[in-house]
Amino acid sequence: MMSDKNVIFDIQKFSMDDGPGIRTIVFLKGCPLKCPWCANPESQSIEPEIGHHYTLCQECGKCAALCPQHAITMIGGDKKLHIDRDKCVVCGTCVKNCIYRALSIYGRVETVDNIYEEVNKDRDYYDVTGGGVTLSGGELLAQPDFAAAILTKCKDEGINTCVETTGYATPENFAKILPYVDIFLYDMKSLDDAVHQKWTGVPLEPILRNLDTAMASPSEVVIRLPLIPGVNDYEENLFATRDKLLELNKIKPVRIEILPYHNYGEGKYVMTHRDYTLKDMKRHTPEQLAAVCKIFEDAGIECVLHKS
Ligand code: SF4
Ligand code: SF4
Repeated sequence: MMSDKNVIFDIQKFSMDDGPGIRTIVFLKGCPLKCPWCANPESQSIEPEIGHHYTLCQECGKCAALCPQHAITMIGGDKKLHIDRDKCVVCGTCVKNCIYRALSIYGRVETVDNIYEEVNKDRDYYDVTGGGVTLSGGELLAQPDFAAAILTKCKDEGINTCVETTGYATPENFAKILPYVDIFLYDMKSLDDAVHQKWTGVPLEPILRNLDTAMASPSEVVIRLPLIPGVNDYEENLFATRDKLLELNKIKPVRIEILPYHNYGEGKYVMTHRDYTLKDMKRHTPEQLAAVCKIFEDAGIECVLHKS
């Protein structure tokens, strides 16, 4: 189990996609799931890491010469850069000395007060649009105390709070954030435990248990379905998801948001030296996406289709 390191990898302003109104998104680093379609692979490790922007790299070798840990080597006849990530201590020397801006650090340790200060700068926009702050990741529950501290501060200061979560956490860690969350954007990738474990690496049971807890709380709950071709877009799973939504709607109103698969994050896999295994995956057509929405709408469930 990961423990809190107070590491974020981005703060994104003026988002309109992750909760109501204009929002500031705080991306926490670290995730216990291993979904191959992840659009933010730089979020998966809780540790800060070096990104190599290969399209900007001139292969000059300066970074390799200056690295105090000898973590960078230029390999092969074409002198391609290789980073030994076990040796790298993320000191930033290479980043500072690359005049081509071909290196960057994903992730930084941040304080709750600094994050709040940044979030609070856009308070006027939140007030006019009904927006606020959204914590995302990674999986924010990989750093439950840090996440709870940010949410508590924002909520105490009157800022609407939203979390985008897989729901994968112990009951104790889930309970830490629960009182400070106005809106859950709650992933439901598959309702078949074997499929869920195969693609994400974790069991479904803790996610459904925490969903029950969220449903029993005063927080608003929105279900999000990342729709992945050949993984969870088959009828049996869509009908099971529809039935689950009907069950949830007996407790309180819950809509579903469909997040179509895209491969926009593929370049970041190369930058952080990870394999992108879904290279040949074809995206859904608008007609296919509309048909998925119709399954929910025909059952009287509000369905929002996100842009792909
Ligand atoms: S990352 Fe920058 S310093 Fe390193 S080889 Fe490429 S261009 Fe040169
Ligand atoms: S961050 Fe520091 S240790 Fe890591 S590769 Fe760059 S210079 Fe070397």
